[in-house]
Amino acid sequence: MQDKELYEKLLGIKAPWKVIDVALDMQKSCVTVKLGHAKGVQFPCPVCGVLCSVYDHEARRWRHLDSCGFMTILEAEVPRISCKDHGVKQVSVPWAEGGSRFTALFEAIAISLLKVASLSDVAKVLRISWEEASGIMERAVKRGLKRRVALPVKALAIDETSFQKRHEYVTVLFDRERDCVIDILDGRKKETLQRWLKEHQESLKELDSVTMDMWDAYIGAVKETIADACQKICFDRFHVAQYFTKAVDKVRADEHRYYKAKYGTSPLTKTRYMWLRSKESRSEHAPASFAALSRMNLKTARAWRIKESALELWTLTDRKDSEAAWRRLLGWTARCRLPPMIEVGRTIRSYLWGILNATVKRATNAKVESVNAIIQKLKVRACGFRNRARFKMAILFHYEKLSLLPEGLT
Ligand SMILES: [Zn+2]
Repeated sequence: MQDKELYEKLLGIKAPWKVIDVALDMQKSCVTVKLGHAKGVQFPCPVCGVLCSVYDHEARRWRHLDSCGFMTILEAEVPRISCKDHGVKQVSVPWAEGGSRFTALFEAIAISLLKVASLSDVAKVLRISWEEASGIMERAVKRGLKRRVALPVKALAIDETSFQKRHEYVTVLFDRERDCVIDILDGRKKETLQRWLKEHQESLKELDSVTMDMWDAYIGAVKETIADACQKICFDRFHVAQYFTKAVDKVRADEHRYYKAKYGTSPLTKTRYMWLRSKESRSEHAPASFAALSRMNLKTARAWRIKESALELWTLTDRKDSEAAWRRLLGWTARCRLPPMIEVGRTIRSYLWGILNATVKRATNAKVESVNAIIQKLKVRACGFRNRARFKMAILFHYEKLSLLPEGLT
């Protein structure tokens, strides 16, 4: 088999296109495959599809997958047609998308690598620049967003995650039913979220629950845009648990400091994570001494017992039972004489309605929280994103179930 024929087969080149030359540069470890088309052929206008005569040609180059370790370049004189309705246009070629300097197959491989490795690693492996790798990612996201159809969202989650500097945030909108990111908004202001909710009224018609933190900006935005918001807003277990955990940690730190100052030693030394861990993860790690410690007359132990009891209330799914149990717990919290716990109790009391919604609907943001954890890891892996747009693009690339591959390869 001739090398031209071989490359025609390998590249899947079909008429009117053919391989007209294959040149090997041993010094540069590079193969250049020249493609051309038969004379007198008409090509469809890329806008309307009507067959038109060739007007002129433009020289184009694409990077393709390596052949046996040799960098492989496709070259072609791509025709421009003259359509009577759309003017002079470059025709589309079957091996690459318009405007790309890479073949569709090359982009597809880059996309699958980008799913598992960082931009700089992919750039190194594929011998392209960081900007080129980022460009492939950006085109993939644009392609996916264009193909996406707006589906009705029934279970929405709204959460914030920090971007780059500690106090810069983005708001992540997540479809809990489909398990994917829907959108990412700048900041965490009420107005921004409100605008988004208004723009997406159509797909939110069947909305049943919105999980979020007890955060007034988000609550306000939802209340002002969604009908029956007070029945739909859910403050999930994860966020509520965080409030209790933080308060327990504060009680422990204060008490530990008190013992150290007064006696030079403290029973709470090196126990921090045992008080903070959830029941499930603690049982594996806690030494037997923790059980004894938790029974001692310590402020920390008292605070911890309140936290543990609060977390167990989540097993109740009847609204009345749940409300009665929470009210008992809040009474206990109010009498406990531990300021951080009293503070949490007050917060919970004013947001109890949404906590009850969450228990009844069994709605939780746990998945969003794990997305946040992955997003934070992604940030570390990418050594920070140069700007917000790139950060958002990476989240969409990794967590929105978009169809990313070039045309014909999906
Ligand atoms: Zn046309």
